[in-house]
Amino acid sequence: MLAGLMMDYPLTLNTIVEHARRMTPRKPIKTKLPDGSWHEYSYADLHRRVRQLGNVLAALGVEPGDRVATFAWNNYQHLEFYFGIPCAGAVVHTLNVRLSQEQLKAIIDHAEDKVIFVDGSLLPLIEPIAERLETVEHIVIFNDVAGRDCDLPNLLHYEDLMAAASDEYEWRCADENMAQGLCYTSGTTGMPKGVLYSHRSMMLHTLGVLQAAALGPTEADVVLPVVPQFHAMAWGLPYAATWVGASIVMPGPHLQPAPLADMIESERVTIAAGVPTIWNGLYHELRSKPRDISSITQLVVGGSAMPRGLIEAYERDFGVNVVHAWGMTELSPIGSVAKLQTQHQDLDEGGRWDIKAKQGYFVPGVDARIVDDAGAELPWDGETMGELQVRGYWVAGQYYQRENDHEHFTADGWFRTGDVVMIDANGFMTITDRTKDLVKSGGEWISSVDLENMLISHADVLEAAVIAVPDERWGERPLAVIAPLDGGCDAAALNAYLLERFPKFWLPDRYVIVDEIPKTGVGKMDKKALRQRYAEGKL
Ligand code: AMP
Repeated sequence: MLAGLMMDYPLTLNTIVEHARRMTPRKPIKTKLPDGSWHEYSYADLHRRVRQLGNVLAALGVEPGDRVATFAWNNYQHLEFYFGIPCAGAVVHTLNVRLSQEQLKAIIDHAEDKVIFVDGSLLPLIEPIAERLETVEHIVIFNDVAGRDCDLPNLLHYEDLMAAASDEYEWRCADENMAQGLCYTSGTTGMPKGVLYSHRSMMLHTLGVLQAAALGPTEADVVLPVVPQFHAMAWGLPYAATWVGASIVMPGPHLQPAPLADMIESERVTIAAGVPTIWNGLYHELRSKPRDISSITQLVVGGSAMPRGLIEAYERDFGVNVVHAWGMTELSPIGSVAKLQTQHQDLDEGGRWDIKAKQGYFVPGVDARIVDDAGAELPWDGETMGELQVRGYWVAGQYYQRENDHEHFTADGWFRTGDVVMIDANGFMTITDRTKDLVKSGGEWISSVDLENMLISHADVLEAAVIAVPDERWGERPLAVIAPLDGGCDAAALNAYLLERFPKFWLPDRYVIVDEIPKTGVGKMDKKALRQRYAEGKL
């Protein structure tokens, strides 16, 4: 090696919070509390409390490498966990608050979480399983709900622990290859898969988000992450916003269209990020009760396809620029962004909306290819469809504790996304289909396979297939096609049966009763035919 190389400075998350303390100590982080009032503090306060949290974790016996879970809305405490847990060398594991109790227990046990930080209003969801969790030693509650008793023996109070903790602290994350975060994503099989991020991958992802070609927030921005912090690290915005010292507005549990509209207006939000369902709801809210949302420079949308009509409507009715992005938990999550480029400058409005409705170009740092069923690479001609495979600085190489997983990772180092796409000669991607058997409703996954397995176990059901059908409000909703054993099936009874295991939003909105479910040549349920018949109305 030649002498005189650059300094080997580790890519670790303490860098971000240290930088914010030095450069933008007084910039605000505001949170809408459950009672509707605002909590406000500064990056200097965040830095201090992150260090206190390091001491709290040490006092709880958390060691480097331990998993520490969060079960929370978007708020300043969750931001503290985003930094404090990894900077103490531990792994912040963000739990999805919409999962059923059995799903939560399976994930917490699989991750072997040692401590869980729980938002007060969400405690009733954890309480019934708390004593059955295999590895959890402490449950730490914050935003306590006044007057609500809880007799869990291992319950502690966050603010009591913080009050007793010093803010003198040595970071415990010197190695950039240490695990930093863990996020589970639903798969086709029963058990969701964990994606484990390192400090290095998350720092590179944050730099990736900060590129102008990606979302590119600056100090002047006011960032509102509506996308939950438990969904793919809130798309990296909390880390990116902190690094540049942007103002942050956290919505807490107030995710309904009316409070979001009020928040955008009163806080002069410039970048807001959420799934299409959220922006659809906000659009209708603004049509019925106008607010001034002209401060927005980027209404970021991803997680599901954003309908072209809604992109157009936002721009035409409110002059708001919609930025459509594609990502996956496995990509930390940013993969592609559909911002206009020089090649589009002569397009008329309609042409520009066509481009903005695509999933866009891959951001620098993410490498992509499309392949056919046999794995042969396909051309980027804007017509040929194939499975999208990606690799890059913040793309997973395997799932947590699942080695040799050739179903999801190729032998030559690419991640198989399960999205079927075409890419044009200029690198703009359009998603056309999914190979994964999943329904995405309001940005949340519903496993069709899990629903089918449960339905088939019902005494009246012979065969069951669940497919996604387009839905104006939720993007997709599950539809169940049932071949009954003999006689009929009662949809209400089947839904009551499913409710024993799954959250309410998983229940199919529609049941179709058939004599037999169509099969493919190899005898599998022909979901493609079912989709054509019921989702696209073609047959
Ligand atoms: P998740 O890991 O839960 O974020 O889900 C990732 C998956 O969501 C992708 O593989 C896509 O199937 C879907 N997805 C994400 N963003 C988009 C988008 N902009 N358009 C269409 N589908 C999307």
